[in-house]
Amino acid sequence: MISKDLEKLLNEQYNLELASGHAYLAMMAWFQDKSWDGFAHFMKLQAEEEYEHACKFFDFMGDTGLRTIVDAMPKPEADFASVRKVFEAALKHEQDVTAAIHHLYDKALEEKSFETMEFLHWFLKEQVEEEDTMQTILDKIDQLDGSDYGIYILDKELGQREE
Ligand code: MG
Repeated sequence: MISKDLEKLLNEQYNLELASGHAYLAMMAWFQDKSWDGFAHFMKLQAEEEYEHACKFFDFMGDTGLRTIVDAMPKPEADFASVRKVFEAALKHEQDVTAAIHHLYDKALEEKSFETMEFLHWFLKEQVEEEDTMQTILDKIDQLDGSDYGIYILDKELGQREE
């Protein structure tokens, strides 16, 4: 039996994953507008991944007899000063999601909701990967030291993302 408090947090996380998808679509649109097609492709796959995350919450809630409520989405940040600023925003976003997952896990632990804890293990691991992905891109941008040609190559590289 999952408590009302925990149900509320699970529902909030479902909506945060959807909002993550929206945030990445807005980044994709910014890149597309600037003809950074590789970065736009990368963000498209990133957005799709977030909707898959939301579906995992949807399924878990359904399986445990909870009803998912779809909330209004906040308007995502749509204007960025540079390519680096987009990935900075992406890293910050993932750090916020990690904090939300930790809060949710903490609540599940407190309530001894073992099924919820087991379900969240996948997300704990996923968040390590998400933060690492964004941090690695930022590190690469820094290594380029302002080289426009380097950014051009990075755009091509991220355009090769397959999943
Ligand atoms: Mg996510």
